[in-house]
Amino acid sequence: MATSGTKEAAMAAGSTQVVKVKRELLAACMTCPIYNKLLRDATTISECLHTFCRKCIFEKLNEKDADCCPVCNIPLCCLPVEKLKADHNLQDLRAKIFPLKK
Ligand SMILES: [Zn+2]
Ligand SMILES: [Zn+2]
Repeated sequence: MATSGTKEAAMAAGSTQVVKVKRELLAACMTCPIYNKLLRDATTISECLHTFCRKCIFEKLNEKDADCCPVCNIPLCCLPVEKLKADHNLQDLRAKIFPLKK
């Protein structure tokens, strides 16, 4: 007997929409691709909008031949550090959802 029971209960239209995002999913958005840990001092490359910890990306860009984004390899040319922007929104969000334990 074939049970064609794909459950689509969550698709109820018009009802109160509570968006539940999995913590893991959020964490993935707030994870530094260099060290795979939650971002500290989120810093975004303005060219491609990839985000890293400030420390990680600065260290990365200080390496000799690293003048591109570690994720997508977009070239940052000279002065890559000038293309970095502190991402306070993301940092705030991260701090709210994943408060740093001290
Ligand atoms: Zn990092
Ligand atoms: Zn990138």
